[in-house]
Amino acid sequence: MTNNYAVPDALAPDLIITNGKVITVDKEFSFAEAVAVKDGKIAAVGSSDEIEALRGAPTKTLHLDGKTLIPGINDSHIYITLGINSMPPGFFDVSPAVVSSIDDMREIIKKAVAGAKPGQWINGGGWNQGVIKELVEDLSRSLCKEDFDDISPDNPIFLTEFSYHTGIVNSAALKAAGIDRDTPDPEDGTIVRDADGEPTGLLMEKATTLITNIQPQPSYEELREIFELNITELTKYGVTSVTSANDRPYDISFYSNLYRDYAAEGKPFPVRISSLMLWAESYIGGDYDSIEEAFNWVGTTTGFGDDFLRIAGVKVFADGIPPQKTAWSSIPYEDGTHGSLILAGKDDEEKVAHLNKIVDFCHAHGCQVGFHTCGDLAVKETVKAMARVKEADPKDLRHYVIHGDWVMSESMELMAKYDIPITTQSELLYYIGDDTTKRLGSEIAGNQWPLKEMIDKGVRVYNGSDWPAAPADWRRGLQTSITRKTIGGIVCGTHQALNMEEALRAYTKDPAWLDYMEDRKGSIEAGMYADFAVLGEDLIEIDPDDIESIPVHMSIVGGKVVYDDGVLQIK
Ligand SMILES: [Zn+2]
Repeated sequence: MTNNYAVPDALAPDLIITNGKVITVDKEFSFAEAVAVKDGKIAAVGSSDEIEALRGAPTKTLHLDGKTLIPGINDSHIYITLGINSMPPGFFDVSPAVVSSIDDMREIIKKAVAGAKPGQWINGGGWNQGVIKELVEDLSRSLCKEDFDDISPDNPIFLTEFSYHTGIVNSAALKAAGIDRDTPDPEDGTIVRDADGEPTGLLMEKATTLITNIQPQPSYEELREIFELNITELTKYGVTSVTSANDRPYDISFYSNLYRDYAAEGKPFPVRISSLMLWAESYIGGDYDSIEEAFNWVGTTTGFGDDFLRIAGVKVFADGIPPQKTAWSSIPYEDGTHGSLILAGKDDEEKVAHLNKIVDFCHAHGCQVGFHTCGDLAVKETVKAMARVKEADPKDLRHYVIHGDWVMSESMELMAKYDIPITTQSELLYYIGDDTTKRLGSEIAGNQWPLKEMIDKGVRVYNGSDWPAAPADWRRGLQTSITRKTIGGIVCGTHQALNMEEALRAYTKDPAWLDYMEDRKGSIEAGMYADFAVLGEDLIEIDPDDIESIPVHMSIVGGKVVYDDGVLQIK
């Protein structure tokens, strides 16, 4: 066959993206103007003229018109099914975006009750005690069932705190779950009670599972509908890869069915998923017995799957979170407590032994493990355990720390030495930095999420949103990692601020290592997957305070457009 092009059709790129600013995030952090894409991968990167010369008859064009192309965002810590279920139609937002008082919450719930069937559960969440007026004015006051009983006497209500570690329910929900004054606290959870021993409606840590375990689960068809409606919460930001960090068998079965059906229907899968499995009876958990039992039945370990849907490993919650004073921290909370590990054990020593047993088991079975650890003591023991197994048996298992609100220098040194990464959350600093400052002072808030110190010490530092604990908006996370500014406008510890290159690497190239995919995703270089985000502004030139408002025009995964705001066209 002949045509006017120098390049034979079979060799021609499927797509060329030209006339833009391409931030490649390669080793040199170099810039280019254009990219050629073939078979889902990047075939070439260069000037617009160089790439134009590769055009063949079948080649389509995305003319960037001076806009910016970056590697697709890799959000290294989210919860997919929790995220998609944490949005309308089945979920009512009571986050700081819409709520600043209990009255605001009541208004939202009143409307929800009016639209609900008799007895139907009303789920919602996102509340943050740090910005609810009545709770800020009186630090001893908490949300309680009476805040909602009069407006919803019959419909059970379950409203999770933004972190999902705490929930508030009304009396109808307590009744539906059979929780009363005689119900014992579950291990590592608290049914908060009043002076008379009556449950107040506040459920902490694993006590929330008394509710989540009895709530009905949507069917595959219902969940697929919710997924397709709400996965845009990732794609609209240009997120192309995620680690989903709390996947129960139900979730993994959902992804598997969905992936198979999309392949059969010829639909592009919208995001690359690495799944950290939660082998626990409760939603916040993970313990040795259930992990061992699961391995006895299912041998699936790290790396199973393909580059769109793969098993990463196992997720374990080691401790709680600082706003609830449940993270195990050497820094005392305002009431003098230090939190603790939430793993089973009668004291710290037993809990630490439990943690070590899990790390030993996962390492021996070829399974990456990611530990939720917020407090510095939890981080310290987790890192010590990981370093110990890697020293004894140095195989390439990339165990890692999740969150690390506070990290001691000695832990950072071990993390650097033993290649133990951390996925951390700058975006959460934006939301809770004010609360931390108020409760614990500016020095402690200034060292919360010490990204700069860790990077300088040689730790592999990745960023992620913790969606739905915060929006999957890397722009705000990236901005906060550079400015350290909170929602209230406080600057928390400029000495922990990153520069743009460090900040962008932590959201793109660097976390590919966590997925053993550093040779094929995360940067714009020949041979890498064609995963991109198209931005309306130049990330390099923009004032850091304006990063959060940069338009995202397109999200492209494996060369296929999965989100498009209509501003640019492929022709
Ligand atoms: Zn998390």
